[in-house]
Amino acid sequence: MVRENTKAIHGHGMEEAYGSVIPPIYVSAVYRFLNEDHAIKSDRGLVIKYAREENPTLRALEKVIAGLEETDDSLAFASGMAAISTTIIKYVKPSTKVVVPIEVYSTTLQLLEELSGKLKFKLIKVWPSAKSIVEAIDRETSVVLLEVMTNPTLKVIDLRYVCNSLPSDNVVLIVDNTFTTPVLLKPAKLGSKLVIHSLTKYLAGHNDVIGGAVAGSFDMIKELWDWRRMLGTLQQPFEAYLTLRGIKTLEVRFEKMSQSALAVAEFLSEHSRIEEVMYPGLSTDPYHDIAEKLFLRKLYGAVVSFKIKGSKDETIRFLKKLKIIKPTLSLGGTESLISIASAAAAKYIPHEERLKLGITDNLLRLSVGLEDTNDLVEDLSQALT
Ligand code: PLP
Repeated sequence: MVRENTKAIHGHGMEEAYGSVIPPIYVSAVYRFLNEDHAIKSDRGLVIKYAREENPTLRALEKVIAGLEETDDSLAFASGMAAISTTIIKYVKPSTKVVVPIEVYSTTLQLLEELSGKLKFKLIKVWPSAKSIVEAIDRETSVVLLEVMTNPTLKVIDLRYVCNSLPSDNVVLIVDNTFTTPVLLKPAKLGSKLVIHSLTKYLAGHNDVIGGAVAGSFDMIKELWDWRRMLGTLQQPFEAYLTLRGIKTLEVRFEKMSQSALAVAEFLSEHSRIEEVMYPGLSTDPYHDIAEKLFLRKLYGAVVSFKIKGSKDETIRFLKKLKIIKPTLSLGGTESLISIASAAAAKYIPHEERLKLGITDNLLRLSVGLEDTNDLVEDLSQALT
């Protein structure tokens, strides 16, 4: 059994055509096909005949993701939201309950709200803590969806407690592992049925790909494969290739970015113009202890959230003064990016809930990239002056 970094580089399982070390990009939309008995099949026994269904380049990526998450298999999707929507549509049953913390990626929340009316399920929104989630689960619950490190206030949910407290095997626990990545957490090993990623973030890692993935058991992935086929939500081969390329350096990028993020969080927490810093890597952070116990490494990710002292206008003035850090959405890539939480990640969280969670108009979410840490600190410092 090879180790993590080796799996990320060699786990694609593609044959070396012409001795090529790097898997090729299969752009063909169609493959020779007479009927199911006279067709080419992928390693999971599914016919490769039409690129909306099964594609060899995606297959390579799916194996690498399953290897990193330590699940049987995985599926690649066109975006994180394509992965989330396909999974919800497949696993939510009418007349059941879906439990979700009020702080998850806000488009996920918006989608659940919209679908609850159309698919006739009851959406139970709870405080983002293991205890509140567990208390909300009952016999009518079909699906629980959560993010272990919440976005944007970086609360850490004790996933081990949630998994150990699930009342029955019928509840489909879905964990969005985008913020934690397999470097910190392998939710399926703790008892989560499905693991979701926005590949757009750390896994592809270079701010040049949109993609998503779901990892899980052979049976569940096969069921979901049919829904991906019907909904047409799979990733395209070039994006899958870029993701395969990016994922090879996941661990080194994550480690370096997390170390930089900690330095930035320490700098900000001592600055007189900063009201509050949220980062579980700080020993003073209320979620530090849970993170220490839960995470596989003593790393806490590249995202640091903080409030600057001042009004909305002053916050915008600060963003305009930044020279290296770019004001925009997204996270987990090589370039440092910063956004106003209430206008981006938390946009669709209702105003009152935002305030309860601590999401005010001066809350900023910084994704620390791979630039020199000193340059980032200097950039923040000059913009705060
Ligand atoms: N999950 C999380 C935690 C996210 O932060 C995002 C996007 O920011 C998504 C899912 C959606 O991913 P995508 O933008 O690739 O559709």
